[in-house]
Amino acid sequence: MKKILIVGNWKMHLNTHEASILVKRLSDRIDVHRDIEVVLAPSMLTLQPVSLEIDRRKFKLAAQNAYYKDEGPYTGEVSFTMLRDVAEYCIIGHSERRMHFNETLEVVRDKVQAAVRNGIMPIICIGETKEELQAGETRRVLHDKLTTALANVTAEELPQIVIAYEPIWAIGTGDPEKPDSIERSVGWIRHILAELYGEEAAQEQRILYGASVAPEFVSSILSLEGVNGLLVGGASLNYHKFSDIVADAYKLIHQEKKTNA
Ligand code: PEP
Repeated sequence: MKKILIVGNWKMHLNTHEASILVKRLSDRIDVHRDIEVVLAPSMLTLQPVSLEIDRRKFKLAAQNAYYKDEGPYTGEVSFTMLRDVAEYCIIGHSERRMHFNETLEVVRDKVQAAVRNGIMPIICIGETKEELQAGETRRVLHDKLTTALANVTAEELPQIVIAYEPIWAIGTGDPEKPDSIERSVGWIRHILAELYGEEAAQEQRILYGASVAPEFVSSILSLEGVNGLLVGGASLNYHKFSDIVADAYKLIHQEKKTNA
């Protein structure tokens, strides 16, 4: 069984002191789980201090962004090369970056390639806007975003990639997408992967769901066919909610194990 991956995206929240308090509280409440990988994505500023504070058996780290050049005259940027010793993952192509920082399909593609080149696992976010949903364009949008992002990723590199399906219209609303339609979109993503890399690689691929995940939705979402984890935004800033999300995932796995025994 694949490990469940739970990623907490802190976005542009928490200064160094606040981040340190949250790490301490999460550490008190979250145990080391063999079947669950918990990844924290602090801001670029707090990534380094958090990396010195976390128990690496409990938590791994993700950057929220990085630039695709390895070094050079790019004022204000941080490269994947610089992140190597600090983060194992990097969120790439989040809708907020595509929207507010004009990240194009090609920029996302280049960032994915740079991450892989530097041994950092990209968590590639893809999803549709409300307008695209209403126009029946979800499949096309997911296809375009996924195929471009993976344009330079070989079959050998694919296991280093994580894909997060995030319906943009459901982010931050408190109301996740309905389970059957999450399942449909995740199935479509696997279908695209199968066309690109073959059926076996597609089945092995880790795919997360993100948008308005809260403890009460964990078991219904993680029970869905093909969903291997969660990308959590707002709820990851609340230590009760985030640790409950991990605990609920743990309960679900152990229920499943008992049922299958
Ligand atoms: C996100 O923006 O990636 C996200 C999942 O946010 P939220 O959980 O707050 O909807």
